[in-house]
Amino acid sequence: MGPPHRLSGRLGQRTVVRGVGSDDRAELSLDVKTEVRFCPSCGSELHSRRIEGHDLPACPGCDFVAWKGPKVAVALVARDSQGRVLLIRRGIPPGQGGWAFPGGYVDDEEEPAVSALRECLEETGCEAAVDDLVGVFHVVTEDGGLVVLAYGGRLVAGVPTPTAEAPELAWFQPGEMPPLVFSSHRRAMQAWQAGLALVS
Ligand SMILES: [Zn+2]
Repeated sequence: MGPPHRLSGRLGQRTVVRGVGSDDRAELSLDVKTEVRFCPSCGSELHSRRIEGHDLPACPGCDFVAWKGPKVAVALVARDSQGRVLLIRRGIPPGQGGWAFPGGYVDDEEEPAVSALRECLEETGCEAAVDDLVGVFHVVTEDGGLVVLAYGGRLVAGVPTPTAEAPELAWFQPGEMPPLVFSSHRRAMQAWQAGLALVS
């Protein structure tokens, strides 16, 4: 038997989640995973099989197993020369209407630091540079896991400009920030401030 196949989240069905949340639900993937019913390799109907402690859809005809994995997202803690941090008010779900760092999901085959720069450009109109890794934050929800890589960085070109994804943008001193909508971003801010304390 060869290695098991792994399903990507792209098999999920994109669903718009309405409403604003300030808890982990705001951070849920928009890809509500539909239960995979048929083997994408041989077409057989899948049956639940207990594997390594998980009940997973598995193929009786070949070695296909619909493994589940966390989604991966990035956030960019961009600071300026005055020590302020750039926040966006999110214009789209998840977390629509709440404040957050620029960020989003990592595309397949995309290097995560590049994802952070791409998301920053898409949301703020600004090119950025990554300086360091603030931390890796794991969020578990009833609908699945999410791993958030938070980078520290700075803007290198452009002026923050509202976009559909981020209709409001502002620089904040760390002590004067509005509540962040994502728990992973709150933890990243705490980690970043703790790191600041260590080096200052
Ligand atoms: Zn199969």
